[in-house]
Amino acid sequence: MKLSVNLKERSYNIKIEKGLFKNIAKEVGDVFKGEKIFIITDDNVEKYYGNEILSALRNEGFNTEILIFPHGESIKSLKNCEFAYEKLSEFHLSRSDLIIALGGGVIGDFAGFIAASYLRGVNLIQVPTSLLAQVDSSIGGKVAVNLTQGKNLVGFFYQPKAVFIDTETLNTLPDKFFSDGMGEVLKYAFIRDEPMYETLLKFKNRENLMKNIGEIIYRCCKIKGEIVEKDERDTGERLLLNFGHTLGHAIEAYTKYKEYSHGEAVSIGMVEITKLFEKKGVCEKNLSEKMEAVLKSFQLPTVLRDEYRKNISDFIKNDKKFLNGKLNLVAVMKIGESKIIKSSSDFFQNL
Ligand code: NAD
Repeated sequence: MKLSVNLKERSYNIKIEKGLFKNIAKEVGDVFKGEKIFIITDDNVEKYYGNEILSALRNEGFNTEILIFPHGESIKSLKNCEFAYEKLSEFHLSRSDLIIALGGGVIGDFAGFIAASYLRGVNLIQVPTSLLAQVDSSIGGKVAVNLTQGKNLVGFFYQPKAVFIDTETLNTLPDKFFSDGMGEVLKYAFIRDEPMYETLLKFKNRENLMKNIGEIIYRCCKIKGEIVEKDERDTGERLLLNFGHTLGHAIEAYTKYKEYSHGEAVSIGMVEITKLFEKKGVCEKNLSEKMEAVLKSFQLPTVLRDEYRKNISDFIKNDKKFLNGKLNLVAVMKIGESKIIKSSSDFFQNL
């Protein structure tokens, strides 16, 4: 399956296929005519797919190197960028060469940032291997690293030349990260795709879902691609993709990124904000219950612990970003329909 993201001279294709890695060298060769390729990955992903991709590209005649970082969010640092820039320089990578981001969202963001900044920008191909990266972070061109002051504070909009998704890679993804990605899949269903919600209700678990995963990933990429085409730089409609995220980010930050993963925090955020909209009569009654049922079937938490409620509502209120300012919130009106509502941090007072 193939779809394109149309952004004039920055347009690219997303290819989704079971077993795509077997043809990876040909796929890369179709969009990249240079000589050198530098793969950036993490140790978990390298263990399963590093050799396969490296030898396929070398056999095709590409001069290819691989740089392996430890897994985890903490590698998204400027210090690690400097290390990678030095390796790129030793490899004499030029602007007509290519960087491949092979991994989950962490590697996609990090290697994308390096591609955007090294020599003022070299070609980038995203090869996402986690569910979250396949449905979300590899598409749309947001790349970033973290500062001690916060996540993703330094970054670019930098579109890849292509996104290659081999759905078979999900077979090695641990359950926890699969559930995390399902949080984002369900977000798309809630904001835009009622039929996908109905389908997901029937699957109920990972095993059933995997039989149809290509189609699900395709639908998510299509929604994200369409939204990015209308609002590449995130000033309008792209905000819809933030459904559940204001609260989700607050939950993550308040619990110091230790208690909940991103997908878990967003899952709670989607349900809790919908409960607030229900109380205000903004959306369909019992919508939050519908969301909860399907999120729970994919092992995602949906309820904020009572002892956090007051603290998190204060935490949002006191966030510098929101002080004196209006807050854009995403409301799902009924499954598949959403809109942006201007509000303020007081909105969360009765959390
Ligand atoms: P991740 O990259 O850390 O991957 C999760 C874990 O799964 C890691 O341990 C990784 O090594 C492992 N893994 C990945 N693919 C695997 C596979 N096929 N088999 C076995 N193990 C595998 O985390 P993530 O959840 O993919 O991404 C989270 C990151 O994405 C965050 O840094 C977040 O900021 C970013 N993000 C970016 C965007 C964007 O638009 N750029 C959107 C959402 C999230």
